[in-house]
Amino acid sequence: MDVRVRYAPSPTGLQHIGGVRTALFNYFFARSQHGVFILRVEDTDQGRSTPEALQDLYDTLGWLGVKWDEGPLVGGPHGPYIQSERFGLYQEYAKKLVDDGKAYPCYCSESRLAQLREAQTAAKSKEQGYDRHCRNLTAEQRTRYEDQGIKPVIRLKVPLEGSTTFHDVLMGDITRKNRDVNPDPVLLKSDGFPTYHLANVIDDHLMKITHIMRAQEWIPSGPLHVLLYEAFGWKVPTYCHLPMVMGKDGQKLSKRHGSTSVKEFREKGYLPEALTNYVSMVGWSYDGVKEFFTKDELETLFTLEKINKAPGVFDYKKLDWYNGMYIRAKSDSELAQLLTPYLIQASFVSDPPEQEHVSLIEKIVPIVKERLKVLSDVVDMTRYLFKDLPAPKIEELLPKNQDAATTVRALRKALPIVKRIGTRPDEELEQEIVSIANEMGIKINGIFMPIRVAVTGSTVSPPLFDSIRLLGLDTALLRLERAVTILSHQMGN
Ligand code: GLU
Ligand code: ZN
Repeated sequence: MDVRVRYAPSPTGLQHIGGVRTALFNYFFARSQHGVFILRVEDTDQGRSTPEALQDLYDTLGWLGVKWDEGPLVGGPHGPYIQSERFGLYQEYAKKLVDDGKAYPCYCSESRLAQLREAQTAAKSKEQGYDRHCRNLTAEQRTRYEDQGIKPVIRLKVPLEGSTTFHDVLMGDITRKNRDVNPDPVLLKSDGFPTYHLANVIDDHLMKITHIMRAQEWIPSGPLHVLLYEAFGWKVPTYCHLPMVMGKDGQKLSKRHGSTSVKEFREKGYLPEALTNYVSMVGWSYDGVKEFFTKDELETLFTLEKINKAPGVFDYKKLDWYNGMYIRAKSDSELAQLLTPYLIQASFVSDPPEQEHVSLIEKIVPIVKERLKVLSDVVDMTRYLFKDLPAPKIEELLPKNQDAATTVRALRKALPIVKRIGTRPDEELEQEIVSIANEMGIKINGIFMPIRVAVTGSTVSPPLFDSIRLLGLDTALLRLERAVTILSHQMGN
C-alpha cells in the first residue's frame, strides 16, 4: 500500500509548535515510506480563516523546508486542496447521504435550538445536544417546511444502538457507545457550507489518505468520523493520534509558556534545522540516545512505532541549547549572512551594509559565535560597536560589595594594561589583571566588570579583550576615562 498522509490545518492563526510538529511527523513518515505528503487547507470556517494565516502556513513550511507533493500552489490529481474551493462537492455527498437514509434535513430554527439548550441546562439533564426532532419527519412534513422556504441543515443519523470502535496505532482500540456520540451532528449548514467533520472525512477519502496523523485532541471526533465513513460505505484509514505538546507545568503549550508561533521563533533567530530537530524530539525518539538529526536523517529514520504515547514536554531551554549547537556548526561566512539582517534591522548597518561594515561583521562573527543562543542576540552583544553609548550610571559601574574609590583605583591601575592590549595573548593580559586584583585584595571581577560596562555598556558581552580590539583602542580608552570621571565625581574629588 502506498502511504498517503496529509497535514490539514485550518488557517485561522499563525502556525504554532504543535501544528508544525504534526506537519513534520506526517512529512517524515511520508518520506520514510516513500509515500506522498499532502497539504490540505481546511478553511470551512470562513469567519475565522484569514489570508494572513494562509500565507503564514506557506511561509512556515517553506522556511522549514517541508515540501508538499500535492496541495495548494503545486496542485495534484485530487485537487483543489483548499476546502472552500470544494463546497459543491460536499453538498453532493451530503445529498447522497440523505438519499441513502443516513442523514436527514433538520428545519429547527435557531430559537428552538436555543430553547432546547436552556431547558437542558436548567433541568441539569444528562441528555445534551440536539433532540433528534427532525429525524423522523414524514415526506409531507418536510415538504411543508420546504414550502415555507426554510433552508435545512443536514444532520447525520447516528445509530441509537451499538457502539463504534476505531483502532489507533498508538492508543489501541478506542470504543464509544453510539448513545454517547454527539446526537446527530450537523454535516452541512443551511447556507450550504460543510462542517469540519463532513469536509474532513470526504477529503481524506477522496484524497486516498491511508494514515491520519493528527493531534490527540481530535480523538473525541474519531467515533463520529468512523460512523461517517461507514455511512458512506468507505474504508476507514489508519489512525495515529499524536501525543499533546505540553509546557513544563504539564499544561497544554500556550502563550503563557512563551512564544508558540513559529513566526516568533523565526524572528528571534532560531534556525530551521534546530527547530525541526528539537520539535521532532518532542514525542519521538530514535534510540533514546541520539539527539542530533539532520532533516535527511529524519526523512529516512522516522517510524510511527517510536512515537511516545505520553505527552511531550516542550522545553525552551533545550531548544536554546539545540539552537546554539546549530549556530556553532555554521561556517563563519554562513553565520555572517544570517546575522546581517539583524544588524540591518537594528539600524546598525545600512541595507546592504557598506564595505567597512562588511569587514567589521566578518570580525564580529568568530567573537560572538560561542555565545549566541539565538541570532538576534547579536544586536545587544554588538550595540557598543555601532552606537554611541549613553554615560553609564554609577551603580552600573560598581561591582557587588565594591565602593567607588576602590573601583576608580582598580580602573586606573588597569588602564596601562588596556593601552598595551594590541595583539598580546589574552592569557597574558588576564594574568596582569589578576595580579592587580590580588595586590588590591579584590576579586578579578572587581576589575573586569567595570571595564566591561564602561566599554560595552553591558555586563554581558563577547570576550572582553576582543571586544576592545573590535571597538578600537581610542574609543575604548575614551569610554574608560569617562567611567573614571563619573566614579570620581561620586567620591567628590
Ligand atoms: N483542520 C483540523 C485542524 O486544524 C484538522 C484535524 C485533522 O487533521 O483531522 O487541526
Ligand atoms: Zn430539527
